[in-house]
Amino acid sequence: MSKVIIIGAGGVGTVVAHKCAQNHDVFSEIVIASRTRSKCDAVAAAINQPWVTTDSVDADSVDRLVELFERHRPDMVINVALPYQDLTIMEACLKCGVNYLDTANYEPKDVAHFEYSWQWAYRERFEKAGLTAILGCGFDPGVSGVFTAYAAKHWFSEMQTLDIVDCNAGNHGKAFATNFNPEINIREITQNGRYYQDGEWVVTEPLEHHRTLNYPNIGPRESYLLYHEELESLVQNYPTLKRARFWMTFGQEYLTHLRVIQDIGMARIDEIDYNGQKIVPLQFLKAVLPNPQDLGKNYHGETSIGCRIAGLGKDGNPLTYYIYNNCSHEAAYNETGMQAVSYTTGVPAMIGAMMFLTGKWTTPGVHNVEEFDPDPFMAQLPLQGLPWHEVVNADLEL
Ligand code: NDP
Repeated sequence: MSKVIIIGAGGVGTVVAHKCAQNHDVFSEIVIASRTRSKCDAVAAAINQPWVTTDSVDADSVDRLVELFERHRPDMVINVALPYQDLTIMEACLKCGVNYLDTANYEPKDVAHFEYSWQWAYRERFEKAGLTAILGCGFDPGVSGVFTAYAAKHWFSEMQTLDIVDCNAGNHGKAFATNFNPEINIREITQNGRYYQDGEWVVTEPLEHHRTLNYPNIGPRESYLLYHEELESLVQNYPTLKRARFWMTFGQEYLTHLRVIQDIGMARIDEIDYNGQKIVPLQFLKAVLPNPQDLGKNYHGETSIGCRIAGLGKDGNPLTYYIYNNCSHEAAYNETGMQAVSYTTGVPAMIGAMMFLTGKWTTPGVHNVEEFDPDPFMAQLPLQGLPWHEVVNADLEL
């Protein structure tokens, strides 16, 4: 018996709420709280159970969060608002004795820069308070870390190279739209690329390196090297890794739009003066772009996200290993009303919370997902809608 508060009622929050409600034996009470209460009410109405209720909160304010937590006294908060709110929510958790889980690491609003240091700085305080914080528990970060931990536990004596490959082969029929919050998405893609090689971080120009990779059931797709946050913790937790990279597919049409958006200054995140009013161009752009939550209805095709790992197997011989999930946009929409990008993020967030609430991932402190036992999480993935597959000793293409 446990009570959770889900903060955020966007694409991901909607999926988390549906999946928690499907697992009522673990999540006996669910509160959906966000800035705009009407969005929480709509999600709760779709679920239509008396133990799913709503509230509103400005998660930028520790005081408002403390009031929310005192009103509801949850065991855990699932933070699927924006990365800007991570630290205020963690502070409020410490004040009220609430455990914490999120899917994206902290980013300050005024610099497009993300790293774990801000959240790792809370390790000692969470540990002393006997509270658990689970960081980055979506798909990537999230399942990508659990897949890596599973490979290390069951397949490798030494992992040498890791490539996380993320393909969205879906088509939503719009000329340009982002699959999750446009502001966060565009900030992520337009920054420099970065990968880990022989103990150093190598910086690239944005989208400088790309390759054609083949994805199961999809075929060849152009894949671009990006920096992604899970690389930071994975190279620390698996020090035998000589190289770690992250690749994501983009279509030509998407990249052309992105280039124009940048060239005309609409990706800027600094304030400008417009007719006496301060606006941030990227936030204004978000207001006119299609809402990612509305893409689901006509979305066809699949996502395919996985880890391609090379090294030495348990027997000491060279081994290659590819573990992945494919997720259909249509199936995700039929189940939750959201497309596969929100679905593949929301399902693992629910499973991570389930791991804590059922006593499997409870070590106090602030932890990335790969620090926990991957087996119970891996067992839940197919049961909750995300089956995974393994390919051994095939060409990794990388
Ligand atoms: P949305 O923009 O669709 O939803 C964000 C929600 O957070 C909205 O309900 C919004 O409220 C709410 N919110 C924003 N600011 C505040 C605030 N100050 N106080 C309270 N609520 C607030 O985003 P997504 O659902 O697409 O993404 C959610 C999170 O998931 C993001 O952090 C994103 O980075 C992460 N993510 C992680 C992935 C992974 O694989 N790990 C993949 C995809 C996303 P309002 O409606 O009022 O704006």
